[in-house]
Amino acid sequence: MRAAVIGAGMAGLASARQLALAGWEVDVLERADGPRADGYMMDFFGLGFDAAERMGLLPRLREVAYRIGAVEYVDARSGRRTASIDYDRFAEALGGRLLSLMRPDLELVLLDALADAPADSVRVHYGVTYDPAEAGDGGGGLGGGLGGRLAGADLVIGADGIHSSVRAALFGDESQFVRPLGLRAAAYVIDGAPDLHAEFDGRFVLTDTVDRQAGIYGLRDGRVAAFLAYRGDAHDGLDPDEDAPTRLRRVFGGLWPPIDRLLERCPPHPYDDVVAQVVLPQWHRGTTVLAGDGCQAVSLLAGQGASMAIAGAELLADLVGPCRDAAAVEAALGEVERRWRPVVEEKQAAGRRAANTFLPPDRLRLLLRRWTLRASSLPVVDSLVMRSIAGGTGLKGRAGA
Ligand SMILES: Cc1cc2nc3c(=O)[nH]c(=O)nc-3n(C[C@H](O)[C@H](O)[C@H](O)COP(=O)(O)OP(=O)(O)OC[C@H]3O[C@@H](n4cnc5c(N)ncnc54)[C@H](O)[C@@H]3O)c2cc1C
Repeated sequence: MRAAVIGAGMAGLASARQLALAGWEVDVLERADGPRADGYMMDFFGLGFDAAERMGLLPRLREVAYRIGAVEYVDARSGRRTASIDYDRFAEALGGRLLSLMRPDLELVLLDALADAPADSVRVHYGVTYDPAEAGDGGGGLGGGLGGRLAGADLVIGADGIHSSVRAALFGDESQFVRPLGLRAAAYVIDGAPDLHAEFDGRFVLTDTVDRQAGIYGLRDGRVAAFLAYRGDAHDGLDPDEDAPTRLRRVFGGLWPPIDRLLERCPPHPYDDVVAQVVLPQWHRGTTVLAGDGCQAVSLLAGQGASMAIAGAELLADLVGPCRDAAAVEAALGEVERRWRPVVEEKQAAGRRAANTFLPPDRLRLLLRRWTLRASSLPVVDSLVMRSIAGGTGLKGRAGA
């Protein structure tokens, strides 16, 4: 059996590996020219952590994980600490099953893990973009595009992220399925800022501010990462002609001196996108299926998108792996959806609930978050807060949800 996977992100690489281990031949088509070095820090826990353990990836993930002792909130005017989250206690509440990972490191571990599959069973083709128009689908299926690499595939997996082109080809324009949560998030990594690195090495610091929140942390290779969240979605008050660096400087300029220094070095094309969830009534058509953010994005507010992408991919491969004809594949895809959709819906609900805590819309909610965090250093409240965080949402900036 042969599968074509579009997108070499979390869902794409994980499903490719698991299918290859089940005896499939897999071609992965990725539009980027290679694995990306840029990214952001992620909490990795929950169902994806369990899946990674079953896949034997934990030792490799532990090697690349960061040690974050605490997430600190600071007053943007004085720079003084207003509250903090003890990361070790959060990890404890999760039975130690939490890792802090840079997205590119997780991607590389998944890429390396393809070597566990039989030789030549997975081929990753970088620099190949799936384009519905070129693939000549006329909207219904995926045609024989991409030099024939899709033609004759027994299964096509659209693992091409929240703005999935495969989804567009199958089901239509993304405005029907992508549900903005009223925020945007931006992230980038800079090099050559030894002063900032010295100040933030081993620290994850967030401004304790209303409507916009800036984060900064030092990486182990001397680079410094920025994480910026602000109000607005794709359609809401954004000037379409304004480029991302200009917008980020406009929104965050003057907020806090270290952030100004980060903004000075903002690259021309930072990650800057709407924070959104994806909800669509059907995840597959025939033997073409969506995986990961393309059909189940929970948003960064849920703190488990990558985790869910990997766990969902494992389930998909578990159920489809043994199939040996199209009818069986189609039936298995229906079963994946039946089992996985309720899990996704629960995480999405938790993500939506976290929005106002993540980015307080007014001073009252900001103070509420501050008090919740402070109270969490009391033993009883602590375990309640930690458990509520672990129940649905991740940690950085999402505490107390
Ligand atoms: C700032 C931020 C913080 C986050 N924090 C966390 C966290 O703490 N914990 C967590 O678990 N998750 C977190 N997430 C969510 C997580 O990153 C995503 O849910 C996850 O990456 C989704 O995986 P995916 O494989 O579905 O899509 P992606 O990782 O987006 O991969 C899709 C791939 O498809 C490729 N592609 C796209 N279009 C095409 C095309 N037409 N042809 C070929 N290739 C294509 C892309 O280049 C990309 O490589 C965060 C996200 C953001 C933005």
